[in-house]
Amino acid sequence: MSSPSLPGTRTRVGKYELGRTLGEGSFAKVKFARNATTGDCVAIKIIDRDRVLHHRMVEQIKREISTMKMIKHPNVLNLYEVMASKTKIYIVLEYVGGGELFDKIANDGKFKEDVARRYLQQLINAVDYCHSRGVYHRDLKPENLLLDSHGVLKVSDFGLSAFSQQVRGDGLLHTACGTPNYVAPEVLTDKGYDGTSSDVWSCGVILFVLMAGYLPFDEPNLVALYRRIQRAEFSFPSWFSSGAKRLIKRILDPNPLTRITISEILENEWFKKNYKPPHFETEEDVSLDDVDAVFNDSEEHLVTERKEKPVSMNAFELISRSQGFNLENLFAKEMMSSINELSLQLSDFHD
Ligand code: ATP
Repeated sequence: MSSPSLPGTRTRVGKYELGRTLGEGSFAKVKFARNATTGDCVAIKIIDRDRVLHHRMVEQIKREISTMKMIKHPNVLNLYEVMASKTKIYIVLEYVGGGELFDKIANDGKFKEDVARRYLQQLINAVDYCHSRGVYHRDLKPENLLLDSHGVLKVSDFGLSAFSQQVRGDGLLHTACGTPNYVAPEVLTDKGYDGTSSDVWSCGVILFVLMAGYLPFDEPNLVALYRRIQRAEFSFPSWFSSGAKRLIKRILDPNPLTRITISEILENEWFKKNYKPPHFETEEDVSLDDVDAVFNDSEEHLVTERKEKPVSMNAFELISRSQGFNLENLFAKEMMSSINELSLQLSDFHD
């Protein structure tokens, strides 16, 4: 646990200055930070090393984080780099300032069908792309759907599911980590499942929540909740259109083998309305040295979290830091006057 900072002191990790806590999940704390070199804002997810790095899943974590570092999709939260200290892992992410989609529903209530559809389209684009690169989310829920300042949806925690699985143990039957309202029936029975179709199920629950303002499966008692999810027992509110109902029914199919696939969703009439395919470029030259260093237990690249006192500057440093005051000019002027003086002396000498 980090100690409280004195007023004005800053905590620095590598090139990042840590700021306020943005949120806390089951396995990590997320802090706002600023890249001291570029001034860019980022969010840093801080994870206790001991809690997550058991050898069993290191390879999966390393593979998924490497893939996520290469994925640059407009609806997936960018992962910039990873760092490690002796006790912590720091995952540096794109910072988004629009809050959680969940808060929007909590504050403003359910969305109109067109708005819900637009979010679903962005969600499916993100999920489809990550799946095509072999990364499954396994924990899609509104808390993992963030918005940027333009209202664009950004899915967070893609590629990080192995971390939370280690904290929870296998499977998802762990009430301490929140209720499994978004989890597919086959995941609950824990008999091995396909990440593709279970993510699709969660997208269906999310779509229902966006349009209804409440959950399709909700019971105070966990056993009853599991039973309802397993049987896909839910009913539609009166305001859902028949197109939306048909799609949700196909997504919330308890049998993963007959459940609608993403390519079928992309062809669905209700889904396709005003659909805009995402435009983005793929990055080819992404260095994975940081990921290797963190997960290969090398001591070489470890960072340390250190407190920095506010800088006290003397007048000279203050001047040299102030914008619009170019010290080089000052030196150049001094140098010129010294040269002038010297040449005068020399000419005196020659005369
Ligand atoms: P869990 O880890 O149990 O799934 P979670 O997804 O809610 O829970 P985190 O991903 O750890 O938790 O994030 C906690 C909160 O921090 C988020 O809900 C969000 O409010 C905030 N947050 C996370 N990442 C960012 C980010 N990149 N930019 C801005 N805020 C963020």
